[in-house]
Amino acid sequence: MGTVYAIANQKGGVGKTTTAVNLAACVAEAGYESLLVDIDPQSNATLGIGIGKDAPLTVYDVLMGTVSMDDVITDTTIEHLSIAPAGPDLAGATVELPRIQGSEGRLRSALEQVRDRYAFTLLDCPPSLGPLTVNALVAADRVIVPVQAEYFALEGLAGLLDTLSLIQRELNPRLTVAGMLLTMYDSRTRLAQDVEREIREHFPELVFDTVIPRNVRVGEAPSFGKPVIHYDPHCAGADAYFELAKEVAARG
Ligand code: ADP
Ligand code: MG
Repeated sequence: MGTVYAIANQKGGVGKTTTAVNLAACVAEAGYESLLVDIDPQSNATLGIGIGKDAPLTVYDVLMGTVSMDDVITDTTIEHLSIAPAGPDLAGATVELPRIQGSEGRLRSALEQVRDRYAFTLLDCPPSLGPLTVNALVAADRVIVPVQAEYFALEGLAGLLDTLSLIQRELNPRLTVAGMLLTMYDSRTRLAQDVEREIREHFPELVFDTVIPRNVRVGEAPSFGKPVIHYDPHCAGADAYFELAKEVAARG
């Protein structure tokens, strides 16, 4: 039985999509069947993996119950990696879902029929704790929380953990935190070191050993529709995401 990971943080620009795309690519590269599910209307994961913005069917159609997950899953150019693409229509789901009773379980039900085919299913969440992220947290076994190594990084993390506890209690008892991931880490700055120390002190055990460095190649790769391990396999960012994949797999 595969494991479903939600990549979540209500803050934008912290590295959720970058982590979802690159972790998915790394586990696929290791030979695991993997599925990336883009549930952000901005569709950055879909674009970053080289799928156009105009997929005929998206996760929106799945959430609205008009098609099955199988109908939207598409191959990528990467072996062992499939994607359920997003589109701008997903923005509508944030309005429509709350009107439907029990809709927070929709993604979970939709994944039920396919999840056994994938060792890793990664859900790239939007930057909010709205209905789409709730759907992801109800569908997930584990949460990965990217945290940008900048000032204010810890702001909001306590709130996020409270939300996770609430969802665990009320909607998804299986849910656990896989780990918090420091991203865009610039080891030359004192600030990054301070943020790292503080987060490790605040949340002992919860922070991944692997730290993702700020790396130009990581930022460039999406504009070529590629994960960094295919854009520049030997850069520091590619190394770090490979390390993360190992750590995630080892944590189970
Ligand atoms: P989120 O999904 O949380 O909004 P993104 O993954 O889209 O965040 O990252 C925000 C921006 O930072 C993007 O432009 C991305 O390319 C860039 N970025 C993310 N991680 C790194 C990194 N390790 N090094 C350099 N740029 C990064
Ligand atoms: Mg994103």
